[in-house]
Amino acid sequence: MNAKITLFFGLVLLAFSAVFYAIYIDSTEAYVVTDCKTVNSCKTYNQIECKFSGLQGRQCTFYVYLMYGACGALSFVGVVMVAVSLYRIIEGPRVSALPPPLPRLGLCPKCGTMNPPTSKYCSECATKLA
Ligand SMILES: [Zn+2]
Repeated sequence: MNAKITLFFGLVLLAFSAVFYAIYIDSTEAYVVTDCKTVNSCKTYNQIECKFSGLQGRQCTFYVYLMYGACGALSFVGVVMVAVSLYRIIEGPRVSALPPPLPRLGLCPKCGTMNPPTSKYCSECATKLA
């Protein structure tokens, strides 16, 4: 995958998980007051979600921490993607700028036979070696 695309998706993931955290950060007390009779009496976003999805008590608590875990996983993946793509963007050109490997000494340009590095002529076809 292209490093810049990876960087973009990593940043998107980070922003996405940050928004999720912002939404759920105010619902930490949801496990204390899980049930609300009507949607209007719900205090937190999480309570509203639990109300709509029919989750109660411990199910609602589990759901909150599941979402927290998902946020953590998302932001972790985002951080890794950003780190890897930044590394590739910064280090990539430097690594590829290295000079190509030197031609191997003793390799015959005509028949490809490996000769001792000190040989002046190929032992197979007698071509003059560089
Ligand atoms: Zn040769």
